Amino acid sequence: MSFMSNVEVDKPYTWKKYKDGMCNHCLANCCKMPLEVSKADLLQMGLITEFDMDEPVRTLEKRLKKEKIIQHYRHKTELFLIRQEVNGDCFLLDPETKKCSIYNNMPQACINFPTVSSRSGFCPYLRN
Ligand code: SF4
Ligand code: SF4
Repeated sequence: MSFMSNVEVDKPYTWKKYKDGMCNHCLANCCKMPLEVSKADLLQMGLITEFDMDEPVRTLEKRLKKEKIIQHYRHKTELFLIRQEVNGDCFLLDPETKKCSIYNNMPQACINFPTVSSRSGFCPYLRN
């Protein structure tokens, strides 16, 4: 009989109810979810400078792809998809500690999670 967690990141109906302190013993599965951010978020995250804000978006997109910061830019929504590692982790997640390497400069989407998510108040908790 298996006691493995059956939580799946892309299936919100399998998520656990979030409680304070859970993040302290979790493998940060939420950081495996595709993260789309605005240009203003990129600035706040310290991934671009004020100077880059005036850069034509196509030039910025090309450079950020080359620097392996983004995977994609969606022209329709004007959002940048932050690069994920092969295992799905956001590249800003420390692979050893499983903590966000820009904790004090997280984008709003990460700050608001899981209060604001596809299943509000639930998250893909995975005990470490
Ligand atoms: S999946 Fe939930 S418990 Fe785990 S780090 Fe993310 S918000 Fe915290
Ligand atoms: S920016 Fe930080 S909190 Fe947000 S997904 Fe990446 S590693 Fe996780």
